[in-house]
Amino acid sequence: RASTAMPDRIARLQVFRIDSEIGMRRAHGSGEIARRVGRVIVRIATEDGIEGLGEAAPWAPFGNTADTTAAAIDGPLRATLEGADATRIAALADEMDHALMGHPEAKAAVEMALWDIAGRRAGAPVHALLGGAVRVAIPLSFSIADPDFAADLDRARAMAEEGIGIFKVKTGFLTHADYLDRLSALRETCPAVEIRADYNQGLAPEEALRLCRDLDALELGFIEQPIRRGQERVLAMIAAALDTPVMADESVFSATEMLDCAHGAWADCVSIKLMKAGGILRAREADAVAAAAGMPTYGGTLWEGGVALAAAAHLIAATPNMRLGCEFYMPRYV
Ligand code: MG
Repeated sequence: RASTAMPDRIARLQVFRIDSEIGMRRAHGSGEIARRVGRVIVRIATEDGIEGLGEAAPWAPFGNTADTTAAAIDGPLRATLEGADATRIAALADEMDHALMGHPEAKAAVEMALWDIAGRRAGAPVHALLGGAVRVAIPLSFSIADPDFAADLDRARAMAEEGIGIFKVKTGFLTHADYLDRLSALRETCPAVEIRADYNQGLAPEEALRLCRDLDALELGFIEQPIRRGQERVLAMIAAALDTPVMADESVFSATEMLDCAHGAWADCVSIKLMKAGGILRAREADAVAAAAGMPTYGGTLWEGGVALAAAAHLIAATPNMRLGCEFYMPRYV
């Protein structure tokens, strides 16, 4: 067997932990964010020396940390991958799902590295391997999440002048009156931009509908995940009651959950993240369900750096239904 040439065989898989600083204070419906985030970089090399990079950006409110992610890659996923044919991406994605339940961040990082290898081998960008670009630019949304709102207003003003057309206000950690103030101040400061709100599961189910109704008059692009994952019965009620589109984020990770979302009419649109779906193929499966159900999707993030954001940009470039823009602002603005 050793004498047989297998140029695409995975010969080496390396896992690196990196810690990055977040350059500004951030608060969400799940609390104030730590100023350091752990990420995991995966480097896979084939027998004939092609190298691919992948990145996992886990965040505990979504289920994993850099430690659990690195351990998942180094343990069960390494056993699945070593010696395997790197070009069999769909088969390996399936085998990873059989080898290890959950851990979409770890699987996304590995799959990303495999796509990188496929692109280098083909001499083509990954979006070309996914069917070709349907768009050449992706609208960028910046998240207004600084507890010092005045600082964010200054940022927003400058960014709107730079051409940023969407701002997502993080809600769910102050009082309702504070958000109404913030949303109208932002509207006044940047009259031409689209404004969205993201509660990150921050509202109590019994008050969520009443509070979201107050936002209905503000003509927001969408209201994201007002209540906790698991309370989709209430989410569906809010989506049915509001004129403003409701976006599911924490409630929908996989294609299966997307199907549940469509059947249960939980939301009007959904945030797709490589770190929730478990990679580009799984994200596309989830998006295909959303597209079939008439729910446009959005390129969400946890705390990704450049590698994962580049992969997600290729995904959005080649996926028509991912038409609500993205929040890939971290490396440049935070
Ligand atoms: Mg969100």
